[in-house]
Amino acid sequence: MYIDLRSDTVTKPTEEMRRAMYEAEVGDDVMRDDPTVIKLEETAAEILGKEAALYVSSGTLGNQIAIQTLTRSGDEVILEQDAHIYLYEGAGHAVYAGVSTKTLPGVRGAMNPEDVRKAIRTENIHHPRTGLICVENTHNKAGGTILPLEHLEAVSKIAKEHGVPVHMDGARLFNAVVGSGHKASAFTQYVDTVQVCFSKGLGAPVGSVLAGSKEVIEQARFIRKRMGGGMRQVGVIAAPALIALTKMVDRLAEDHANAKLLANGLAEMKGLQMDVSSVDTNIVIVNVANSGLSELEFVARLKDEGVLCGDFGPELVRFVTHKDVTTEQIQDALVKIGRVVRGVA
Ligand SMILES: *Cc1c(COP(=O)(O)O)cnc(C)c1O
Repeated sequence: MYIDLRSDTVTKPTEEMRRAMYEAEVGDDVMRDDPTVIKLEETAAEILGKEAALYVSSGTLGNQIAIQTLTRSGDEVILEQDAHIYLYEGAGHAVYAGVSTKTLPGVRGAMNPEDVRKAIRTENIHHPRTGLICVENTHNKAGGTILPLEHLEAVSKIAKEHGVPVHMDGARLFNAVVGSGHKASAFTQYVDTVQVCFSKGLGAPVGSVLAGSKEVIEQARFIRKRMGGGMRQVGVIAAPALIALTKMVDRLAEDHANAKLLANGLAEMKGLQMDVSSVDTNIVIVNVANSGLSELEFVARLKDEGVLCGDFGPELVRFVTHKDVTTEQIQDALVKIGRVVRGVA
């Protein structure tokens, strides 16, 4: 049995979730007849401080529907250079929405608001139109970092001044909620739309939600159908998502404590560069450049020891803590990582 720290997407549904799936009331959701989906969407909208919400099959689909809803073909989208939308969604923005990107460097995942201001296009016959600004919270590639409220407020203010909407890729927004102590709506008040995943740390088997104004979500519902994302008796998977949303948020604190424990242990190992203060939530990124192993070799050797993690770009390895890994397993993983690192020294 591996200790699986590749991602929080590996979490399995709880017994309560499986029971809820069996018992879920269902209907044809394209006809708006599925009471479980309606309840999930209403609950999500309320928690996220938005008028309406749309259940979608994945975070990627939620983000891509948001881009298609808020932009016109030929627009430019401003986003942080390591954003999930930019790096990990197959350039869906270019394929489906027909938009180009303007990427900006971030510090802990946060773009400099003044850079955002400068990146917004002025009216000029030569220029594309700036159609959208995207932010990511928590920021995956930066190591699960939380975007500060002041940052979001500053970006929102600039966006409003220029009449540009803002979308938040909040795949792990609830990790930011638990990590900061702020309500979800404190973060989402600064954005027009937000996408949140139920299938990561919250433990549901499938699904995400996209929330926003009634008008925007109505258009998003049309685009979801056009993309083939309209689903029928989908209450069977909305039911565990509702449990994820209402019962699985607070326990994310355990994942954050385990991430800190892991980071503290890694920081003491020779050959690993680990900045413990960079760990805000459940993602730990360590630099293995001085270990004598490439990131791919590191991942492979650790697998031989029984621990799974992910290579995360040159020299970097990512560990993600989640509900299916205990504190004891984290301690065990540290022993095994130590063996790999010493095995080379
Ligand atoms: C996982 C993730 C997504 C995409 O979610 P899927 O359900 O895997 O499509 C989007 N954004 C971020 C930041 C993510 O971590």
